[in-house]
Amino acid sequence: MENEFTLKYLGICENQEPLFIEKIEIKKRVMKLRIPFEASYGRFNYLTRLFPVITFRTQSGEHITGIGECSPLNAPSYNYECCETVEAALRYIIAGLTGKKIEEADGFADKNSAPVTDVISFIEKYKWITGHNMAKAGVEGAYWDAAAKLNRTSVSKLWGGSRTEVETGTSVGLEPSIDKLMNKIDIAVQQMKVARIKIKVKPGRDVLYLDAIRKRYPDIRLQVDANAAYDLFNTEHLALLKEFDNYDLSMIEQPGCNDDILDHSRRLAGLNTPICLDESILHAIHARQAIELWEQYSSIDKLIINVKPPRVGGYLEAIKIAKLCSAKGVSVWCGGMYESVIGKTANVHFSSRAEVNLPGDHISQAPYFYNDVADAPVYKEGRIVVPNGTGWGLSNLNLD
Ligand SMILES: [Mg+2]
Repeated sequence: MENEFTLKYLGICENQEPLFIEKIEIKKRVMKLRIPFEASYGRFNYLTRLFPVITFRTQSGEHITGIGECSPLNAPSYNYECCETVEAALRYIIAGLTGKKIEEADGFADKNSAPVTDVISFIEKYKWITGHNMAKAGVEGAYWDAAAKLNRTSVSKLWGGSRTEVETGTSVGLEPSIDKLMNKIDIAVQQMKVARIKIKVKPGRDVLYLDAIRKRYPDIRLQVDANAAYDLFNTEHLALLKEFDNYDLSMIEQPGCNDDILDHSRRLAGLNTPICLDESILHAIHARQAIELWEQYSSIDKLIINVKPPRVGGYLEAIKIAKLCSAKGVSVWCGGMYESVIGKTANVHFSSRAEVNLPGDHISQAPYFYNDVADAPVYKEGRIVVPNGTGWGLSNLNLD
């Protein structure tokens, strides 16, 4: 399977000039959310964001700096990763990238360290580390930003993205009452004119909420995200999921256990609403397994995959999954991890690829954070403009 994913097949236009890593720094910011967010795994008011900053040197002596973002939650609730695990993994990744032993890694590259010739040779330097996908995605992001700057183009163009604007929707958290939920939905539909609404659900805070939304907005594109809150062997939970069929939902996202694919395919085969996998897809092999299981137990038009580059270990893996899904007619969209503008913009570049054919989670009812690190990409009525400057194309970046 690995061999079929050549950069050429993936449509990625890569730099072949040797790049020497000079220095890697990690900038850390604790960022306060404008609107606290709640999902079935908890509520949070602030998030810590880690930004790998990598300086490369070309053969001609030019210096190019790229920036990425690691976007874990504060506690290991969405997956096993959190700020502390990302910081620990980054120490090993930096040692690998700079060619030094972990106890000697100071962020400066060993002078005999082999240059990077493409993204595969970059990833090769830390590929031995198991898991820790959010840490890996952050450093890979810094590589892509620098590679695009070297090519004097945008990351979207380097990745073979074809859209100049991407469709986007909003994700509304678990609200304590239907009135509060409807207030947020009204703003999203009437003022922001989002491309679709997603609401978080869990047993007991699901069907009544959907009922209220559908009464007011019978036609809006609507989907739900359960973040693994339903037991697929509990008859009451299964009955609730079956009731979701009455609300014309685009999908039910990750209702069952967060590392399960098999039971999602078998236990929910009788539902009319498509199932979207999020937490349980960690790499392209999982995506292939899901496709094979839906072909066997359900039908392929009832499988959707939410591809989050931080969850799958980076953008190359995200593009592989998108390509694999597209070849089988499986729809793909890009979810968010409450990223700062850097990570959100990276998601917009990824979403510019043709395979990403459903609206993503790139906006909320305000910028996520007070004092974000750069200007947000331009949003208008359910669409975000893909920045066309070099690299990520960020304006007014400030990490100090
Ligand atoms: Mg999700």
